[in-house]
Parts: sequence; structure tokens; C-alpha cells
Amino acid sequence: NALQSSPYYREVISKLTTVFGLRKFRPYQLEAIIETLSGRDVFVLMPTGGGKSLCYQLPAVCQGGKTKGVTLVVSPLLALMKDQVHSLMLKKIDVFLWNSEATYDEVTTRLRGTRKPSLVYITPEKLKESNSAQRILDELYRDNSLARFVIDEAHCISTWGQDFREAYRHLGTLRLKYPNVPIMALTATARKVTVADITERLNLRDCAFFTQSFNRPNLRYVITPKTRKWMESMMDFISSKHPNESGVIYCLGRDKCEEVAKKLNDNGFSAKHFHAGMSQADKDQTLDEWRNDEVHIIVATIAFGMGIDKADVRFVIHYSLPKSLDGYYQETGRAGRDGKPADCILYFLYKDFLTLRNMIERPDGNVPPSKETIERQTAAARAVLNYCLDISECRRVQLLHYFDEKFDKSQCARNCDNCDHPDPLLTLDSTKEAQDAVDLIENFQRRSELVTLTQCRDILRGANNAVIRNKNHDKDPHFGSARGRTSELLDQMLRKLCQLDVLVEQSIQQASGFHNEYVKLGPKAGDFKRNKKPLLIYCRPKPGK
Ligand code: ADP
Repeated sequence: NALQSSPYYREVISKLTTVFGLRKFRPYQLEAIIETLSGRDVFVLMPTGGGKSLCYQLPAVCQGGKTKGVTLVVSPLLALMKDQVHSLMLKKIDVFLWNSEATYDEVTTRLRGTRKPSLVYITPEKLKESNSAQRILDELYRDNSLARFVIDEAHCISTWGQDFREAYRHLGTLRLKYPNVPIMALTATARKVTVADITERLNLRDCAFFTQSFNRPNLRYVITPKTRKWMESMMDFISSKHPNESGVIYCLGRDKCEEVAKKLNDNGFSAKHFHAGMSQADKDQTLDEWRNDEVHIIVATIAFGMGIDKADVRFVIHYSLPKSLDGYYQETGRAGRDGKPADCILYFLYKDFLTLRNMIERPDGNVPPSKETIERQTAAARAVLNYCLDISECRRVQLLHYFDEKFDKSQCARNCDNCDHPDPLLTLDSTKEAQDAVDLIENFQRRSELVTLTQCRDILRGANNAVIRNKNHDKDPHFGSARGRTSELLDQMLRKLCQLDVLVEQSIQQASGFHNEYVKLGPKAGDFKRNKKPLLIYCRPKPGK
């Protein structure tokens, strides 16, 4: 076929076995390699563990490509680069790590000499800030000794995601300064908007895109509601299913990490916290201990992540709600890189969403976020909320849909909570309750009275509690109109209305200084009322109910 007739094919196949000791290519590796050797810009989108490194390491050792010389790899993490350099050296590949430890003499002999390395690894900061780096690149370019630029973890250039790195932005100048050098961008971030953003910021042209499926078949996705003793059940889960195995627990906030790590240790687990507030030495030590299996569980903020390539992570737990589905995908993606089964469990509480939203609207620090930032982050958090609330659709279908990938749910092989649930999924027509709720809230709004979602629910189900009595809610015409429905069902119905923008929750500061969430009619309320739209709720009745 077309690949085999490429002038580069024979060398590529031969290097695969002789240098890398591998037998065959994974999907799109060969394609990406052939394209970069023929001088094209290439964008490689592969999930974690998909085999991105080979896509630039192999062409770097080929003599026959259209552009010849050094492959310059820009990578965000020194630890990651060191690992790669080490394993390349074992393969007898001539590679140079251009970090702050490299002396001037070393740099000169390695990069100005006649025998130049096949691969040079550099951080974006070094590339941006070091004058000598710029000068040497100019020289290499003039001598036609730059084979290609490789931008690893390319999503760091995009402000769309949470890994944005200031120095990455500078990489956009590579194309302008060295127009003849092909660029290869690689990332495990799959969103189309992010990919378009990266392409534009790097000034890629006529770029060949190669996308592997982002499905990770060996990961089991489960959302577990936080019930009263959920921390205990989490510990039970770890000790029964993953005793003495490696895992990561993601929390929101440094204090929380420390608290959870302590609690785990008090209960006989081997755990350590990890967050951006620690010294580099502490971080390194914790990482080392984890890598060497001296510590099993890392309790971390999202500061722990990119480039952590321990292969045998058997579980990733989200203790708090992730900030976006991209984040969730990346964080869960650190489990099971060895291809063996691994668990990804998110402990969910609706209130965690409100907490997250408050953090987005009122983050720590002096600079208030822009309206645009708040809107973007809120939308990202809502996508996570919707994902958690949807008990009807396969998790893989939902997650991959977010990355614009169509997924056939039979391929899930019951490896998510929704596909593998013991109870049947029922649909309940909740239209009447929903219309009542909208009426009720409209009345409150007309009287300029505030009401919370919980109060709404309690009015509808006719609850008899102190708040209801004190606020005279039991005099409301809708009081008890949904008597007989469970609280869970009414909660689900109200949340569904929020999801559909029929209702919105707003955080309002009270005289006491506290913020509280009140509910109002949303942009879709009029439409919902007028058209008497049906509202179906999915539920799984517990046996006997
Ligand atoms: P990524 O950077 O996409 O997360 P890596 O490049 O680290 O993934 O590759 C993940 C693992 O897969 C590595 O252990 C690598 O050696 C292995 N691998 C990559 N390509 C192949 C291949 N064609 N055949 C066998 N193993 C491969």
C-alpha cells in the first residue's frame, strides 16, 4: 500500500526491530513517522500509554528523512525527560539532555561538533530564556541540521486546559524563525477545540492528524454517591480489592490532601500527600518512594500528574469533583498504563459541585477572574456534573462523546457502573412535579423571596421540618403536591431542571456574610412551561422499593 511504497518505509521497519526491539507498530505510529520523515507537520493524538514517544524517537534515528540532523524535543517535565534519555541511552541512541546541568563546554562540543546527537531534549523555559540556546538553534538551522521540532504534551500551549505553561506560548515562534523545519505535536488531550487551538498557536501548516481511539478498555469507570460512611467504604474497597497496590487519590485543596493521607495512615494504609505547596525535595522524595513501592497511595491535588508514568497504578480515586472532563480523563488515565485492569472511582456529592463553583467564582488570591474565565470553568464543571448525574448511559459513551468520538457501548464489555448495574433502569415520568416546581419557583421570584433547591424539594414532598414551619412554607399552594415521591427522585428531578437550564442556582451573599445557593428560573423556563415538555427521570429502584 501507500505506506509500503514510501521511500522511508524500509529504514523505518528495520529500525523498529534493530534499535527499539519491537515487532510491530501500534495504530498510526507508522503513519505519523512516515509523514514526519517526508517533511510534513504532524499532530499525534493518542491516549496515555498509546505509544507517542516512538513516533518521534524512531524518525530521529533514521538517516533517510527529507530533513536531516537533530530532532529537538520540547517536553515540560525534567523527570520525564530524564527517564526517556535513560532508556534511549540503553538502546545506544545518541541523545543529549539540554538542561541547566549541561555546561557550556558540553553544549558546544555536543551541538557544535561534527557528530551531533540524534535527539536533544529541552524544556520550554530553557528554550525561551537562554540566549545560547537561541544562538545554537540559529546555527543548526543555517547548517540544515535541524530535522524536526517535537512538542510533547502540546496541550500545555493552550489556555483551554489546566496544564497551561507560559513558556509554551513562545513555541509559536519556532515556525516563524525556522520555517523549513517540520513540527510534530503530541498530546493525550483529545478535545477538538484544544486541538484546533494548539494547531493555531504552533502555526502548524498542512498538518497530518493521527488519532487513536481514546477508549481505555482496561479502566473501569464508576461513580459512587457519597453516603454517610463513604470514607469507610472507600477504605474497605482499597483494602479488599487493592491491598498493597499503587493508587492515587485526587482531592481539591492541599489541606484536604494532608487530612486524607493522615486518615489513611491512621487506618493502616501506606499513604503520602503530594501538592504544590511542598518543597521540591519533599516532592521528589515522595515520588521516589511511590515509584519504588515504599508508599502505596498518593493523596494529591492535580499538581500531581502530568508525566507520572508509573505503569502499575491499580486505582485512581476522585475524592472531590474534578474540574473538567478533560481533567477527569487525564487523571483517571494514569491508572492501568500497563494494560491490566484498573479502577477509576469518583465519589460524588451534589454539594461538591457547588463548592467547586464557589471556588471558580471566588478563588484564593488577589486577582479576580475574568467573566470569561468564570464562564468557561463553570461550563467545564457542569460537564462533569452532568456526567456524574447521568445514570442511564455507558460512561465510555459519555466520556468519549465529550472528545467527539463515537463509541459503541457493546465494546464497553460491562466495564463501567452504568453498563454493569445489577438493578434495571426504569424511566419515571416526572413532568407534573417538574411543572409544579417551576410554578413554585416562579411564585417565589414574583414575591422577591429566596428559596433553595432543598426547600423546594421539601415543599413539594410536604415535609414537616423546622425550616418549613418557620418560613410558613406549609401554607404554599404547592405544599405536598408531590407527596409520595421520594426525596431522591425529587432531587434528581430538580437537578435535571438545572441541567436543562430551566432552573439556575445562584450564589447570593447573605447579611451574615455567608454565600448561599438559591434557585431561580433559568433561560429555558418559559419554553418548558409553555410547551409542557415531558420530563423523564431515570432511576434504579432498590430491591423491595
Ligand atoms: P505515551 O507517551 O503515549 O503515554 P509511551 O510512548 O510511553 O506512551 O508508550 C507506552 C508504552 O508502550 C511504553 O512502554 C512503550 O515501550 C510501549 N510501546 C510503544 N509502542 C509500542 C509498539 N509498537 N509495540 C510494543 N510496545 C510499544
